Amino acid sequence: MDKFIVSARKYRPQTFDTVVGQAHITTTLKNAIKNNQLAHAFLFCGPRGVGKTTCARILAKTINCENIQPDGEACNKCNSCKSFNDGGSLNIHELDAASNNSVDDIRSLVEQVRFAPQAGKYKVYIVDEVHMLSASAFNAFLKTLEEPPSYAIFILATTEKHKILPTILSRCQIFDFKRITTNDTVEHLQEIVDKEEIKADKASLQVIAQKSEGCMRDALSILDKIVSFTNGEVTYQNTIDNLNILDEDYYFKLIEALLQQDLAAAMLLYDEINRKGFEGDLVLNGFAEFIRNILVCKDAKAASLLDVVEGMQEKYNTTAKKVHTAYLVSALNILNEAEINFKMARNKRLHVELTLIKLNFLQQAIELSVNDGTVVKKKRIDGPIAYKIKNIQSLQVKPAEPLQKEAKLLIETPSSKIQKPVTGNKQPETLQNSGNKKSLLDILREKAGNNYNVITVEEAETLELEKLQQYWNEFTTQLEQKQKHSSAATFKIAKLNIENEIKFTATAYAITAQKFIEQEKTELTDFIQQKFKNRSITFSVLIEEGEREEVPQHMTLNARQRFERIAEQYPLVKELKDKLKLEIDY
Ligand SMILES: [Zn+2]
Repeated sequence: MDKFIVSARKYRPQTFDTVVGQAHITTTLKNAIKNNQLAHAFLFCGPRGVGKTTCARILAKTINCENIQPDGEACNKCNSCKSFNDGGSLNIHELDAASNNSVDDIRSLVEQVRFAPQAGKYKVYIVDEVHMLSASAFNAFLKTLEEPPSYAIFILATTEKHKILPTILSRCQIFDFKRITTNDTVEHLQEIVDKEEIKADKASLQVIAQKSEGCMRDALSILDKIVSFTNGEVTYQNTIDNLNILDEDYYFKLIEALLQQDLAAAMLLYDEINRKGFEGDLVLNGFAEFIRNILVCKDAKAASLLDVVEGMQEKYNTTAKKVHTAYLVSALNILNEAEINFKMARNKRLHVELTLIKLNFLQQAIELSVNDGTVVKKKRIDGPIAYKIKNIQSLQVKPAEPLQKEAKLLIETPSSKIQKPVTGNKQPETLQNSGNKKSLLDILREKAGNNYNVITVEEAETLELEKLQQYWNEFTTQLEQKQKHSSAATFKIAKLNIENEIKFTATAYAITAQKFIEQEKTELTDFIQQKFKNRSITFSVLIEEGEREEVPQHMTLNARQRFERIAEQYPLVKELKDKLKLEIDY
């Protein structure tokens, strides 16, 4: 451990074969060298730290090797190779375009290109971050790139391929470097710790690989840092401590609390996490990633995307089985929104807590709408609702009294329409059809056989006159409270009669009175149905028989008579007239 040098330098690959995770590129380059089909300009694209510069250096060394191996690798023994490995070769020129991006920088490079190499075959020019060159620098470079001397090789490297001018792209052989996978990184780290005789568990290497996000250079420097902090004993715990990564166990505990709707536990847990020095946005982001992992575990195929520390998979799978997908998707939405708004929130702590509260009640909301994967339907407790139509009773009912024709307004169910009372029925009261209704129901029952399950409402009260009158009076009181005194007066004197278990009639004394009741029909029906807890109840408004005989037709009354009738029916009208001292112009 005394002579510890930075792993990234010490373990920089010296041959194409040792480059991690870029086999598709190294194989192509080796073949090109073997077959002597080398291009004069290369463009290496890809994320940072994946081996672009390393490959460029290996390429420069290999093509200058005096003794290229049959497999296309450099010998690493000849003078040229040695000078390359020592960093003393004159045949390699590196330019970092990020800091040397002016026309002058490029001009001096182009100047050098004119001189042939003193030793070796090729002069290799590596331009890093080539997209940073200014437009004029690009143009100064273009001509050299177009007609390079036979001994010059250009290797341009960039992390942002889309910023390269098409004129440059068309003159280069392009290689796309891939992000290094977690597995490849772990394998490489394992080799290094084995060689260095460092104790490191696999979980810690996995955490390092994840944290480096496919950048080998980062992975190596993280490893160096942790090794020096821990005196060569790398464990999962001291790795996450060093990297300021929150232990996944916290997320498992957190989701457990939220699923139990134990808000207090969730808040306390967040407090504990907070006190360990983890900021809210880190927790929101970490938890979102955690939820994503759980979601991935929901599907056996997608589970391969799960990139977690070894030994954790089982825990994820178990949790995935407990949580409903709807919860996970909604939770991700909530967390995503919270993350976006985190910067703007004044009270960061409250912001995160609010998110936890939302997540806590989310479970409740999901439980309400989802039960064993099916949406619960509201249980139907109501009986069938009778379809109401207005029906003007035909002359046939009471042939003896033709004047009734327009006077009888009935509201009936369709069944009564189908089964009209027989012509010549002697009973004037049989406008309704209690018997018919029953028999229809019986017919239906017979048709359906024993399987027919009549929906009965257990709590429904029986329609009986005493109760009906009581409810009727209640409704009348309500009308009075609404200042509908005329209607209330009519209601007070209406006569009620039960027809059958779901039907009653109200008899009024005049057409006007009947109209007043009709006006309240919808509300009244609803009111009565609610009171009896039976949605099937309907009613009709009739007009008093005897009264009708006395009052043959409006036509026969003169204006004064009509007013007197109304006044008699509705004392308030007269009172109004008297109080306001109105003179009626008959
Ligand atoms: Zn060599």
